[in-house]
Amino acid sequence: MRKYLLLLFVSVFVVSAGTSLAQKPKRCGTMDYLARQMAEDPTLASKMADIEKMTHEFETQSAGMRTSSTVITIPVVFHVLYHTTAQNISDLKILDQIATLNKDYAYLNADTVNTPAAFRPVAANTNIQFCLATQDPNGDPTTGIIRKYITATGFDPYTNQNIKYTAQGGDDAWDRNKYLNIWTSNFTGASTQIIGISQFPGGAAATDGCVILYGTIGGETYHGTTAYYNLGRTATHEIGHWLNLYHIWGDDGGACNGSDYVTDTPNQASENYSCVAFPHITCNNGPNGDMYVNYMDYGDDNCLNMFTAGQGTRMTAALNGPRISIKTSPGCQEPTGINSTARQFAVSIYPNPSTGEFVLTSKLKDLSDVEVIVTNILGEVVYKNSSKGISYLVQTIDLSDQSNGIYMVEVRTNSGMSTQKVVLNR
Ligand SMILES: [Zn+2]
Repeated sequence: MRKYLLLLFVSVFVVSAGTSLAQKPKRCGTMDYLARQMAEDPTLASKMADIEKMTHEFETQSAGMRTSSTVITIPVVFHVLYHTTAQNISDLKILDQIATLNKDYAYLNADTVNTPAAFRPVAANTNIQFCLATQDPNGDPTTGIIRKYITATGFDPYTNQNIKYTAQGGDDAWDRNKYLNIWTSNFTGASTQIIGISQFPGGAAATDGCVILYGTIGGETYHGTTAYYNLGRTATHEIGHWLNLYHIWGDDGGACNGSDYVTDTPNQASENYSCVAFPHITCNNGPNGDMYVNYMDYGDDNCLNMFTAGQGTRMTAALNGPRISIKTSPGCQEPTGINSTARQFAVSIYPNPSTGEFVLTSKLKDLSDVEVIVTNILGEVVYKNSSKGISYLVQTIDLSDQSNGIYMVEVRTNSGMSTQKVVLNR
């Protein structure tokens, strides 16, 4: 008994010590994934060297021209692969994530006040913006969000790319020449140590995009659920890689000889976690030290608040080089496909099936009066509501006093009508 108690004590101690010493997840698995891609594809290194050469030429040409840059908007599609309700992140969180990206990439985020004065002269609006796709690869209307229930408890993108293939239980990429693909899910296996992974320009089309832990998606208003990483900065960081940015410390393991190929970021020894105090000097990098508030470092979401002008130029080079087709993508234009006349806008219902209450969201083509009508299987109206002059419909509908079954949700606007089914199952 005594022995048993002692053992119990030891194991409890080990568990609690393990918890208190537990490291935060590594922000990102992108460099390890890149190393694996290079091992699998012997041509990738030379492709990336060509891109680097082109990037350098672009940087030389565009020197001093940053103020005249035009804004480039990147159409985004979210592939939400969920096993639990929590993993089926809401439209509102995804919209807030897009809002976060647009603020972060324009240096219009609320926490620019936390950028140390020494770094403000190089903090920059990158002139890159994002939109949720409004037309799918066929030209048909879409909310830019694909939701898929998965039987597995999650994916392990650190080990394999199954999440990017429908045949492997994931969801196929949309044309990477027109869209930025973002897959979100629960992470399992080796991936429980990371929260995001991305593919640099130059890699294979089928796997192009970012894979991001579901709990990190959100923003200032609708927070994610992952501790320290709940303000949407994981996507800000991973998309940086997708636009050819390297980690700010140059991934040299503290040797001070690595580079992020950007001139206005300091040489920095290693990644910084949490919120570092100014100045944090490494590699003899001068009185200002590391730029630990940069999105390409590893700090907590509330400690990161800037890209530099040099990083902006490097990303713009990617959008004028390997990712140039994004500039002419119709992804965020009005749908032109064969289903466009019948259904002039896309409506999303979440959750569906519903246990009573669900949220209806729709991005309308124009400012419009909207009428929402829900009917039961007998055609009887069980809910009706109208709103005037709106461009984005967000409506919570409560059918908890109705019986289980299929209901039709009809949304009428000045220019068209859309009908969707919702299943009530309590
Ligand atoms: Zn990274």
